[in-house]
Amino acid sequence: MPGAAILMYHSVMDQPEQHGASFGGIIHSTSVFAGQMEVLARQYHPVAFDDLVEILDGRKSLPRRAVLVTFDDGYADNYEIAAPVLNRYGIPAAFYVVVNSIATGQPPWPIRVRHAFLSTRTEIWTDSAARRWPLAKPDERLEAFAAACAQCGRLAGELQENTVVAIEKQLDSTPYAPHQRLMMSWEQLHALRKQGHVVGSHTLSHPNLAHLAEREAEQELWTSKQKLEQQLSEPIQHFSYPHPVLDPHCTDETTMLSQRVGYRTAVTTRRGLVRRKDNPLALPRILPTKQVDGLRWNLECAFAGSIWS
Ligand SMILES: [Zn+2]
Repeated sequence: MPGAAILMYHSVMDQPEQHGASFGGIIHSTSVFAGQMEVLARQYHPVAFDDLVEILDGRKSLPRRAVLVTFDDGYADNYEIAAPVLNRYGIPAAFYVVVNSIATGQPPWPIRVRHAFLSTRTEIWTDSAARRWPLAKPDERLEAFAAACAQCGRLAGELQENTVVAIEKQLDSTPYAPHQRLMMSWEQLHALRKQGHVVGSHTLSHPNLAHLAEREAEQELWTSKQKLEQQLSEPIQHFSYPHPVLDPHCTDETTMLSQRVGYRTAVTTRRGLVRRKDNPLALPRILPTKQVDGLRWNLECAFAGSIWS
C-alpha cells in the first residue's frame, strides 16, 4: 500500500556550528538541505499540504513516492535560506510556527534553557524541588538541563516564561543571541504564503500538550490559531504537536482537542509513512538525516516497506 513521507525539518544555516551548541541537533547545513531538495524534486513526488487533505479524504489519489516538506518552530532561516531553495525546485512546504516567538523574536524555550546551562559560570543549580545540581562537567550540565526541561515542558504561557527567566537569572546567563532576530516575522510569514507555502501552528509557547491541563492545551491550540488567522487573514488548518521533552507528546485527548478547535491535519514526531486510513490529526513523519544519501536511503527503505521507521 503506498504512503506519503512527511519530512520534519527545523533550521537550515550556512554555518550550523555557529548556533549548534544551543540549537542542539536540529540544524541542516544549506548545502545538505539543497542537495536533499534536489533529490526530492528529481526522484520523488513533492505534494502540497492541501493536496494531502484531499488525498486523506479520498478525493485525490496518492502519487507514487509522495513527499511533503515541513518545518517546525519558525526560525528566520526558514524564510531566508530554506524558502529560496524550495522555490528553486518548486517544492511546496508547511511552516509550523511558535506564535509567541513571532512577536518576541526569541527562540522557543528549549534553546534558551540549553544556552543558559551550557554558557553559565555558576557551579550549582537548585531546581524547584530544592535539589542541587552540580554544573562543573559537561555531562552534569546536560543532566541539569534535562531536569530543567522536564519542568518547563509541563508549563505553558506566562508561567513557563517566568520559569525560563528565573532559570536564566539563577544561572546568571545573558539572553541567547540578543542582537540577532532568530525567528520569522509576520512580514516573512506573509511572504511565504505569497510564495505558495502553508503556514500552520506549533502552539503559542511550545509546551508538551499531552502534559498540560486540558484547558491550557486548548488555549495553546485555539489562541495560536486565532492569532495566525487574524494576521494572515485566512483559515489556519494545519498544526504540529511540539515534542520538546517528555513522552507522549500527543494522546487521544490532544488529537480530539486539535480536531475540536478546527484543525484539519496535525503532524507528530512519531516516525513512519502516512497511509490513507491514518488519523489526519496524528500524522507520523520521517526525520531527514544530515546527509543527502542518508535521506535517499531512509526514503527508499520507507517506501519499500522495510521495518525501518
Ligand atoms: Zn518544536
